[in-house]
Amino acid sequence: YCPIAPFGKGNEAKHVLGGKGANLAEMSELGLSVPPGFTITTECCNKFCNDATWDNSLPKPLWDSIIKSLDAVQDDMSSVFGSPENPLLLSVRSGAAISMPGMMDTVLNLGMNDKVVEGLAKKTDNPRFAWDSYRRFLEMFGNVVLEIPRSHFEDELDDMKYEKGVNEDSDLSAEDLQELVTRFKAVYETMDMQFPQDVLEQLSLSIGAVFKGWMGPRAIKYREVENIRNLLGTAVNVQAMVFGNMGDTSGTGVSFSREPNIGTRELFGEFLINAQGEDVVSGVRTPRPISELEDEMPEVYKEFVENNRILEAKFRDMQDIEFTIQEGKLYMLQTRNGKRGGEAAVKIAVDLVSEGLISKNEAIKKVLPEHLDQLLHPRFPDVEQKEYRDAVITRGLPASPGAAVGRIAMSNEKVVENKKNGIPSIMVRDETSPDDVEGMFSAEGILTARGGMTSHAAVVARGWGKPCVCGCTALSVDEEKGEITLTMDDGSQKTFKEGDFISLNGQSGEVLEGSQTVAPPTITGTLKNFMEWVDDVREIDVLANADTPADAKEARKNGANGIGLCRSEHMFFKPERISKVRQLILGSNEQAEEALKDLLKFQREDYEGIFKEMDGLPVTIRLLDPPLHEFLPSLKEENILADCAEQLGFTVDELKEKVEAMEEVNPMLGLRGCRLGITRPSIIKMQTRAILEAALNAIDAGIDAKPDIMVPLVGKVEEFRNQRDVIKSVADTVFAEQGKSCDYKIGTMIEIPRAALTAHEIAEEAEFFSFGSNDLTQMTFGYSRDDVGSFLPDYLNKGILQDDPFVTIDTEGVGQLIKMTVERGRNVRPDLKIGVCGEHGGDPRSVRFFANEAGLSYVSCSPFRVPIARLAAAQASV
Ligand code: PEP
Ligand code: MG
Repeated sequence: YCPIAPFGKGNEAKHVLGGKGANLAEMSELGLSVPPGFTITTECCNKFCNDATWDNSLPKPLWDSIIKSLDAVQDDMSSVFGSPENPLLLSVRSGAAISMPGMMDTVLNLGMNDKVVEGLAKKTDNPRFAWDSYRRFLEMFGNVVLEIPRSHFEDELDDMKYEKGVNEDSDLSAEDLQELVTRFKAVYETMDMQFPQDVLEQLSLSIGAVFKGWMGPRAIKYREVENIRNLLGTAVNVQAMVFGNMGDTSGTGVSFSREPNIGTRELFGEFLINAQGEDVVSGVRTPRPISELEDEMPEVYKEFVENNRILEAKFRDMQDIEFTIQEGKLYMLQTRNGKRGGEAAVKIAVDLVSEGLISKNEAIKKVLPEHLDQLLHPRFPDVEQKEYRDAVITRGLPASPGAAVGRIAMSNEKVVENKKNGIPSIMVRDETSPDDVEGMFSAEGILTARGGMTSHAAVVARGWGKPCVCGCTALSVDEEKGEITLTMDDGSQKTFKEGDFISLNGQSGEVLEGSQTVAPPTITGTLKNFMEWVDDVREIDVLANADTPADAKEARKNGANGIGLCRSEHMFFKPERISKVRQLILGSNEQAEEALKDLLKFQREDYEGIFKEMDGLPVTIRLLDPPLHEFLPSLKEENILADCAEQLGFTVDELKEKVEAMEEVNPMLGLRGCRLGITRPSIIKMQTRAILEAALNAIDAGIDAKPDIMVPLVGKVEEFRNQRDVIKSVADTVFAEQGKSCDYKIGTMIEIPRAALTAHEIAEEAEFFSFGSNDLTQMTFGYSRDDVGSFLPDYLNKGILQDDPFVTIDTEGVGQLIKMTVERGRNVRPDLKIGVCGEHGGDPRSVRFFANEAGLSYVSCSPFRVPIARLAAAQASV
């Protein structure tokens, strides 16, 4: 037995009532007109899904309290469920604690049967309305509860419209709809299903279906994609129906209290006259903009505007509202904090502060790292340019901003297959349904022919920051032929095949042919302002992983406080340099000497450029790390081998022999990191010289260069001592040669579990620590970084891992080593600077751990993710 809460009686936690139920209760308390109803709690759903004694049906005590609550609704509405004379109709809707748009099931007009429809027609003197409600119920009940494919009903409806020569559902007469009811019942029969005339049976089956929907594949997939965990289940809201389809003084709509793409303070939504809610969101009829409601029903509009104000003040956030107007009276059906795109998230947060509704710290919490991620997405560089304008073929609704380029893919399966093969897709559909979620997630962008700005495609795409253009009426999709046709403004047509490239501009709604160039985004205006607040509150630094002056420039533009990792080997991955490295590794002593001289020049130039970009900020340069074989020519590529042999004065066979001799069985655990520096000191001598000469040159040019030299892959303090001594002696030589010196630090990476365990010894010698969380994860789990793909999906699916540990730090295991290192290190050296420079440094959840639980001084991540890490670091502080 689980409790039931009537609307408006106390404000129970969302966890138990679900978001919809909790907010319906709030709206009732605020005195807004909400149709009466009650909420069956998420605990009941949990029992239904997990408790074998419930036997997939509703137990008697629960049913008894449903009946009791129903009595109260009947009293409130002065009507009776199932009564032909004075019928009450109900809606049954799911609502979990976290909103899952379009993922869960809804049954409307519950309580219709052959007798009630006649009674309702008589009572309302509106047979059309009665039959319309009945046919809608037959479809929804059949689809949601009995799982009859929706298309069976849609086909009947389309046939009917065709036979009657009408375009809109609302043009069908009462008689047509009555005929449609007969045909819908026939659909049940052909599927061998029974439509229950008993209204209580309808109710109990529908509640059970909503519960079952929680564990249905669509809902499970959505939770997986959105990383939603630890929810009890969905609540079920049972509510008296009000009708938007009772004629021309009725209607229904959905609206945001602010514009959800760019965040301006204006109502943004759509409504339809003489329609029910489903018509607006399903995209079957094209709705009208909310502003036109003012002309249509000025009083209702005024009340609606005022309700928006009240709800924004109460929830202190932008609201996403569903409403119905029944014969001129406004009813509020639902409100929730609205999903928004990145640009809107920042603007709304900043505006709410200036409107006095929230504090700066609350604003910082409201913008999600994913929002920033969207803002940092590529865009089309110049939409006024001729090449861009000429490529525009048509336009739809600008449903979710951003630039997307990909190959046309017309099915869920195709997008997923493309993704696996590394091919970018634009998902093109007539309209999307919740079954398309996986494809939508895997696509670069989404294009639909039907549906408005609040259609399924639009809402889901916005939530994920995927560019989306919907309601593109010029588009016709022929899935069978694998073709789409676009009718151009001048009436001509263009056909594209699945696999052809197209581009989408989610900001303007433009669809372009071919693969258009995209440009990186920039931080200006409101975002800049917001990021200043972020920097004011964050307590840890955010550095960047940057290997070149260009990366360093980008990093600084994005607000980095320095460079936390310069992987010096990345400087060698250029054709003219890699041949020098090969000469160093494979050549004679003389050749090696010569190569080192050239490499010194390259590195010194690069470091100088980086110091210039990072004037005044620390630049952490890691000495050469990766296994040598990464620099050797592949034995499979004959022509490269031949070139390389010629350069070095070997025969191809001699070269092959040398390369083979250097191959390792397990290179990740082989000759890399400081092991390389210890066995081949000439390399790190050259690197140290390059770093310090570059620093001295930069200082001469008036730059405040701050080099930190970092030794990789240390496991024993003796390894560190060895390298430190080499570095120091080179430094002394360079400073003596030049008759000047500069400050520099020598620190180490902590990326081998043994280093973590002996951090107290290493801290005696090292001036800073930086966690190489990639290697530390690899070596703590014993999962090869390069081979984890073969079993990771199974581990995630089977719940053995909750997250990919190479993306989000494993706080229990690897995190323990990190905390231990910090404690042991700082015991010895209290002011020890400790950061992290593995991929986790740009992952918001990991950043929170590093800042709050591990007590690190900084995180370092790719230049592109710096703003996200800044926000995550600030959120850790507020
Ligand atoms: C690490 O191991 O986390 C690290 C930053 O080094 P790399 O990824 O280059 O091994
Ligand atoms: Mg490493």
